[in-house]
Amino acid sequence: MRIVMLGAPGAGKGTQAKKIAEKYKIPHISTGDIFRANIKNGTELGKKAKSYMDQGMLVPDELTVSLVMDRFKEPDAQDGYVLDGFPRTIPQAESLDAALKESGSQIDFALNVDVPDENIIQRMSGRRACVKCGATYHLKYAAPKKDGICDSCGEELVLRDDDRPETVEKRLNVYHEQTQPLIEYYAQKNVLKEVDGTQDLEDVFRDITKILQ
Ligand code: ADP
Ligand code: ADP
Ligand code: ZN
Repeated sequence: MRIVMLGAPGAGKGTQAKKIAEKYKIPHISTGDIFRANIKNGTELGKKAKSYMDQGMLVPDELTVSLVMDRFKEPDAQDGYVLDGFPRTIPQAESLDAALKESGSQIDFALNVDVPDENIIQRMSGRRACVKCGATYHLKYAAPKKDGICDSCGEELVLRDDDRPETVEKRLNVYHEQTQPLIEYYAQKNVLKEVDGTQDLEDVFRDITKILQ
C-alpha cells in the first residue's frame, strides 16, 4: 500500500502517519524528519536545508526529490510506505509519479487531513518534538508522561525553530500557494480521500482505517 498524507503544517499528518505505519507495517517516510536528522548530524544536505526551513520556505524540489528517490531504494520501501510531507509541490508529485510509473506501481490513497488555519497556530505552538527519534507531542492534546521528556527515548523535547508563530504564518502561506494544489491533483487521479482532522486524534485514525480497509 502506497499512501500520501496531505494537509497543512500541523494538521496531524505525522501523528497519523506513525499510526498507519505501525498498523499496516509499512515504513513512515517523512522528508521533514530526514532533513532534521541531517541538520542534527551536521551534513551538507542539512546545512542547505536548514536555511530554507528556518525561514518557513520549502527546500528546493531537486534536493528533496533526490533524497526521496534514495530512500525508495531501501529494502523496507519495496512494498509500500506512507509519505508524510512529500510531495509538497506539483513538480514533486510529477517526479514521484514518473518514478512510480517506471516501477509499475502507483499511489493507492492520498489522505487529506483537513484542519482550518485557525486551529493550526494552536497546534503548532503546543507541539513539542524529539529531535532524536522524531516523536511528536502536544502540551495539551498529546502530553508526554514526563514533562519535557520523550516517552520513547528519554531525550529532551524542543519547540522546533520553525514552529514559532512568525514562521508558522509564513509556512501556512507557502502551504496554500504551493501544496494545496495537490488536493486537486490527486482528486483527478481518483485517489483523494478527505479526513476531518479537527477531531480527536483517535477519531481521525478510526476514519483513516475505514478508508484503508
Ligand atoms: P510539518 O510536519 O509541520 O508540515 P515538516 O516536518 O513536514 O513540517 O517540514 C518541515 C520543513 O521541512 C518544511 O517547512 C520545509 O522547509 C521542509 N520540507 C519538508 N518536506 C519538504 C518537501 N517535500 N519539499 C520541500 N521542503 C520540505
Ligand atoms: P503535521 O505532521 O501535519 O505537521 P503533527 O502530527 O506534528 O502535524 O501534529 C501537530 C501538533 O498537533 C502536534 O503537537 C500533535 O501532537 C498535535 N495533534 C495531532 N493530531 C491532533 C488532533 N487530532 N487533535 C489535537 N492535536 C493534535
Ligand atoms: Zn525521542
